This record gives sequence, C-alpha cells and structure tokens, in this order.
Amino acid sequence: MFRQPLHDRGVIARYRAHLPVSATTPVVSLNEGSTPLIHSSRLSAKVGRGCEVYIKYEGLNPTGSFKDRGMTMAISKAAEAGKKAVICASTGNTSAAAAAYATRAGMECVVLLPAGKISAGKLAQAFVYGSKVVAIDGNFDDALNLVREIGARDEFEVVNSINPFRIEGQKTAAFEIIDELGDAPDIHILPVGNAGNITAYWKGYVEYHNLACSTKRPHMAGFQAAGSAPIFYGRVVTAPDTVATAIRIGNPASWDQAKAAIHDSAGSIDIVTDHEILEAQAWLAANEGIFVEPASAASVAGLLKALENRENAVPGPLQNMAPESTLVLTVTGHGLKDIDTPLKHRSFAPLTAAATTEAVLRTLGY
Ligand SMILES: *Cc1c(COP(=O)(O)O)cnc(C)c1O
Repeated sequence: MFRQPLHDRGVIARYRAHLPVSATTPVVSLNEGSTPLIHSSRLSAKVGRGCEVYIKYEGLNPTGSFKDRGMTMAISKAAEAGKKAVICASTGNTSAAAAAYATRAGMECVVLLPAGKISAGKLAQAFVYGSKVVAIDGNFDDALNLVREIGARDEFEVVNSINPFRIEGQKTAAFEIIDELGDAPDIHILPVGNAGNITAYWKGYVEYHNLACSTKRPHMAGFQAAGSAPIFYGRVVTAPDTVATAIRIGNPASWDQAKAAIHDSAGSIDIVTDHEILEAQAWLAANEGIFVEPASAASVAGLLKALENRENAVPGPLQNMAPESTLVLTVTGHGLKDIDTPLKHRSFAPLTAAATTEAVLRTLGY
C-alpha cells in the first residue's frame, strides 16, 4: 500500500503538478487541506428528489479556516522570493493563517485589522502566532487600501487574496471535491466576502474539467450577508455590517472575477440576513454536529432560503435543480473561532443540580 511520507502532506505536496511551484520552491506547510467532505442526510432530505448534499468542512484546516490553503502557497512563494516580511489586512482568518505560516517560514508578519471588529479567537491567533498587530480606525476595506500602499515597498509581500498565489492554493479545494466525488458537483454553494474563494473554486473546477478530470462544471451559488452585499447590489457598501465578520466587506478585491465565475457557471449571487445566518449556524451544529463560524453558515442559510423562502430568493440554479443533483456547500471556518456571537444571540444556561446522583437525575427528568 502506498503511504504518503509524513513530511509530504499539505496542498502543495498533493497538487504540486497543478500549482506554480518548482522543485526549488521552499514549501511552507502545516499539512493543510484534505478536509472532510461530509454527507448531510438531513439537508439531502430537505432538498429531496434524490439530491445529495455534502459539506466541505474547511474549519478543520490547521488554523481553522480555508485561508490556510492559500497561505501555504503565498508564504512559500514569498520565501522563494527571499522576502523577510509579509503584510495583510484581515477580518481575522487571513491574519491567523498569515501569522502561523510566516512564523513557520521565519518571516515577520504584520496584520492590519479594523479596530474592535475581530472576534477574540481570531485576534488571539494573530498574537499567539507572533505577528505584529495594528488595529486601525477604519473598516476592512480601509485596511486593505493601506496594505496595497505599504505592500508596494520592497520589504513586504502582500498576502491578501490580491496575491495571485493565494487563489492558486485555494483552488485545491475544488480538486479535492472532484477527487472524492469522482466528478464535479452540479451546484457549489459558498459564502462570498472579498470574493477570492469563489474565484478560486471556479478556477479549480475549470482547470480539472479542462484536464478531463470531471465531466461537468458546477453552477456557483454565492451568498453575501444582507448588510454587506456589494456584488448582489452592484455597488460598493461604504459601511458594511453583519454578524458574519469574515464576510463583512463592502468593496471586494475579486469583484470582477466573482462576477465572471457566476456568469460563466450560470450561477447566482444572493443575500441572507443575519437572522438566517444565525439560524443556519445553530441548525447545522444541532442537527449535523458541525459547528461553523457565522460567515460559514451563510452557505447553509442560502440553501435553506432557496428551499423555504423561495419568493425572496433570486432566480438561479437553486431554483430549478434537476432530480439527483449533487450539491456541495463549503463551510469556511471553525465555530470555535467566534464563540461570542452564538453565546450573545441565544441563551445557553446550564441546568443546575446539587452534587448528588439523585439530584442530577431529577434535574434531567429521569
Ligand atoms: C475569508 C472568509 C470568507 C470569505 O471568503 P472570500 O474569499 O473573502 O470571499 C468566508 N468565511 C470565512 C470563515 C473566511 O475566513
């Protein structure tokens, strides 16, 4: 039986032939990727007509989000170019990944964050992985503008998704799905913030299709938070607002590429409200045992909206699914990244009992 050597895991090792690396690229990896593709019997039943729904659980990457796929590429290429420092703007997950991978590569990592808008878990990651954190008095879009300016200096490599190697690494998630299902799904649903990921998935699906590794390409169905939906509304949102902080972006860097992916795949872009996002987050945890952060739940919220709130959903692939369609939903980040949001929006109080067997059983109603 073939066994992958222990030092040879991660998305660059797995998909080297499809990535812009050479034998001399120093690979900086934390064994990211190869995340679970989990069948959801309950979502499949909700869709009905023999359709099958799978969840691509990206929260199981080393720093807890899909950003690790792109960061292994971006940091490896920065190391190859001899860079000593990287910089990024972040709503939290990019900085967590950048900090971890930069540290591994022996580089300095600078992160610009919108002050007060980052979940505690993600902020803790940036600190414990040893990056220099600068909280700016502005939103993510302001932070990204600063990064573009500072990143033009020679010392820094920008590792936001405007770095093309990020997209290259992230496209491997589409390869994994095809490798596991034996073909592309019919529909791929995912949250959209800065729009790098929808761009990356589509690139991956197109490349594998061109290599005849799949017989088809999926319709891309993206969902934005209603208060941060520039692509849906077709205009910049100057004060984006949502509980889903990872998609709290008013002027996406990959806007044009996302529109192309939606157009070329005969896909769709729609919105979900914060209420729908929080309901979907709770539903997924309590019904399928998968705890994701609020932004990630936008994909589940989007599918549920298309099924249960059809009159408010945009026309698109989710409105006229063929029987026996295969759907994949990417859930982008781990629920433990942001525990404050679910704790704030629902009351979770433990039952109480005296410290005796009888009292505990009585409290439980046994
Ligand atoms: C970055 C991120 C997103 C948004 O991805 P984009 O590529 O910016 O569209 C969604 N969810 C989580 C958890 C993220 O970290």
